[in-house]
Amino acid sequence: MKIKRLDIFGFKSFVDKVSIEFETGITGIVGPNGCGKSNILDAIRWVMGEQNVRHLRGRMMEDVIFGGSETRKPTGLAEVSVIFDNSDGNCPAAYKDFAEIMVTRKLYRSGDSDYLINKTPCRLLDINELFMDTGVGARAYSIIEQGKVGALVSAKPEERRSLIEEVAGVTKYKSRKKSALRKMDATRQNLIRLGDIISEVR
Ligand code: ATP
Repeated sequence: MKIKRLDIFGFKSFVDKVSIEFETGITGIVGPNGCGKSNILDAIRWVMGEQNVRHLRGRMMEDVIFGGSETRKPTGLAEVSVIFDNSDGNCPAAYKDFAEIMVTRKLYRSGDSDYLINKTPCRLLDINELFMDTGVGARAYSIIEQGKVGALVSAKPEERRSLIEEVAGVTKYKSRKKSALRKMDATRQNLIRLGDIISEVR
């Protein structure tokens, strides 16, 4: 899955709508200090489901909404869409027939948020599942930031293993196994409670 375009509106320093096209090959983003280069990376990470605001260099999630400047009022909404080229079909079966996949995340100052895939509202879980094992995602290896290579070299074996599992495509199954085990555990607890109730009413 290759990123084709990124649309940013009201996110951090991007008060007006900005579209960034990623052509085939290398795209370089250059500009003076503080002009918003890292905010573009934050926008990509955010739209792909990042929940930890510290990974977006903020204190509260509201910090991602344009907070105003000398000449512009704060916006009430941050909205980022990322458009993937899906011609390689390297995505979950449900999206195989789409030539492009658009993932959108919105956050209102009220705290309400929306997630959309191809303009259809969805859950954060759907977005996480869409990216699982594709190498793309909020924490995936597609984003290699300063210090990441060094961190990988000095990582604990288990941490390094989780990256290899993502590359090998087993993360999705591990995540589903974890959620199935959680459901089995909840069912087991319900059965115990049911047993107690039955013995009480007998
Ligand atoms: P450097 O080259 O120094 O690393 P950069 O180009 O990567 O800089 P960023 O860190 O992306 O710059 O952007 C920093 C700018 O974004 C600052 O001017 C900061 O005020 C602005 N900014 C961050 N969050 C918001 C927000 N919520 N509202 C308005 N402006 C914001």
